[in-house]
Amino acid sequence: MNPLALIRPNIAQLTPYSSAREEYTGTTGIFLDANEFPEGKYNRYPDPEAKAVQSVLAAQIGCAENQLILGNGSDEIIDLVQRAFGIPGTDSIIVCPPTYGMYEVYAKINNLECIRIPLTGDFQLDIPQILAQKAKILYLCSPNNPTGNELENIEILLQNFQGIVFLDEAYIDFSPSNSKNELLQNYPNLIIAQTLSKAKGLAGLRMGMGIAHPEIIAVLKKIKPPYNISQTNQELALQALQNWDATAIETLVKERDKLVEGLKKNPSVRRIFPSVTNFILVEMTEADRIYAFLTGRNLIVRNRSKDVPNTLRITVGTPQENELLLKTLAEFQ
Ligand code: PMP
Repeated sequence: MNPLALIRPNIAQLTPYSSAREEYTGTTGIFLDANEFPEGKYNRYPDPEAKAVQSVLAAQIGCAENQLILGNGSDEIIDLVQRAFGIPGTDSIIVCPPTYGMYEVYAKINNLECIRIPLTGDFQLDIPQILAQKAKILYLCSPNNPTGNELENIEILLQNFQGIVFLDEAYIDFSPSNSKNELLQNYPNLIIAQTLSKAKGLAGLRMGMGIAHPEIIAVLKKIKPPYNISQTNQELALQALQNWDATAIETLVKERDKLVEGLKKNPSVRRIFPSVTNFILVEMTEADRIYAFLTGRNLIVRNRSKDVPNTLRITVGTPQENELLLKTLAEFQ
């Protein structure tokens, strides 16, 4: 399948915004081209592609630089893909709930129909139901938010789904599995999203990435806002990535497992869904009341009971925060 044939005709024909600075190949010069103020610390527009960060990330991910686009969070990548491929009022996307809510929210914003094919009882993909639908984009999240598990059989969908497969790997760094990015070689319709907001601990910087075939990346770059990553964020992300301590993930995973053990001892906990992420989905006897009780004690968790009955999603915090959560939960009556 040629994914370029799926691009919206107006996007395929679009001439993107370009600046004189992109055309200029020198490194120094007198820049009187972009109506910036002539003096100041942040008076200049940043590199539109955030190339310095892009090159560090490409090396870390193990992809070519032209297979990468940086976004203002991976949320921006979710939206860009819909705008590149989804014809408003005509096309559909598929989501597999319970899953991350923004795929559907963006579909509403972009006026795309959202077809919901729920995960099966064990939170796995319902392959026959998915393949029975016709849609431009299929959103998969693995490891999945809020269930915490990895999805199986993604490759079957890559082989058979006649559209773009968007694989959201926001939580992949916590999991023992590797990214599926090596599948990009065989499946040009695959777009992977990752983020610096989770395991890299940089949610405040708002930086996420799309990894895909160079020709798809070129289309996404055509439609992104020209300077979507600020100068300060490019500088801070570069610094943080160069000094990043990967052992922080192991520590967090140990804390998660400790939190699971602690939760198991609580009489209000009915079931803990296995997690390979930095959060735990927990079925409680009275999730709504416990949620209100915790909030009343200034402990904020996420009530996911609308999607999975009687569940709270708990993000793993610091050891002290986790202990306080367990202690407070034990006081619930
Ligand atoms: N995907 C998933 C599955 C998420 O849980 C989140 C954030 N909660 C995002 C994407 C968005 O992340 P960001 O925009 O911070 O990169």
